[in-house]
Amino acid sequence: MIVAVGLLPVILLSRSIARGKNNACTENLICCHAVCCKEMTMNAQGTSLTYQLELKDLDLAYGNKTVVHNACLQLPAGQIGCLLGPSGCGKSTLLRAIAGFEKPVKGSISTVSNTISDANTVLPPELRNIGMVFQDVALFPHLSVADNIRFGIRDLDTVQQQQRISELLELIGLPEYATRYPHELSGGQQQRIALARALAPKPDLLLMDEPFSGLDAKLRETLVPEVRRILKQEGISALVVSHDQSEAFSIADLIGVMNEGEIHQWDLAKKVYQRPATPFVAQFVGQGNLINATVSCEHCVDTVLGKVRSPAPIR
Ligand code: ADP
Repeated sequence: MIVAVGLLPVILLSRSIARGKNNACTENLICCHAVCCKEMTMNAQGTSLTYQLELKDLDLAYGNKTVVHNACLQLPAGQIGCLLGPSGCGKSTLLRAIAGFEKPVKGSISTVSNTISDANTVLPPELRNIGMVFQDVALFPHLSVADNIRFGIRDLDTVQQQQRISELLELIGLPEYATRYPHELSGGQQQRIALARALAPKPDLLLMDEPFSGLDAKLRETLVPEVRRILKQEGISALVVSHDQSEAFSIADLIGVMNEGEIHQWDLAKKVYQRPATPFVAQFVGQGNLINATVSCEHCVDTVLGKVRSPAPIR
């Protein structure tokens, strides 16, 4: 048994606390750890859940090298999730598979109504109604702001296009910028336009790959909560990839901490911090020190620093 001091919650206890009676997650909307993903179809009130995105036992590989193992998560509609982990742990690969650019070796990716990827079939990206925002913004340099936003809604009539463009420019706080070109905008303004362009067709799900890492720290501080406000106002479900802990906690309702291709914990942001499921999660999201401990009663462990009590039973 190991405990995290400083993050006082006992790390290796969290799995048993989270799973509760009958081995099922009992406390909230989502699965608490990959081990109970399959069991989680109802919330604590017994109401069945609607997931905008669900990954089940997903393996992804490049050639014969598996880079994501057994990934499992459930994102309820209207929630913002963040895949958080060090560089190279498989976050972008997972995002690319959800977008439809990588085929699973095993497992499945589903949206509300159907399975969009498994080892046999992959629904093409353009049929998924999933929006994407990239780290390098990727605005079309030869198009004005309005025409960049218009790009994904060209099948609407002109009046509807104009209405949606004005609505989005208002939402991102740039109503006067319709006729500008990307090179006439700051980095933060470009990122907002990229967001508006991705939101224009009203996607079911928005994927954002390190969307803030090209921006300076000061700008990130204001833009991250601003983007959260915009997503919440539009009611969009989103999955963000980040290697930055503070960014993840600022934007997300749910965080999935990844390392070496595995999701160690997918949980409410607060719980990831307060009840880390593994020593890796504890060390990656906080400043805790790990010490050995022995379970000595239902609610306590003995450590070299003395007895530590847990409000929930330890099994
Ligand atoms: P992250 O987004 O967490 O930085 P990635 O998903 O980009 O990680 O990469 C996960 C692993 O897959 C890394 O070891 C990386 O080198 C490898 N990888 C990524 N893209 C490719 C590719 N196109 N071909 C082969 N290996 C790749």
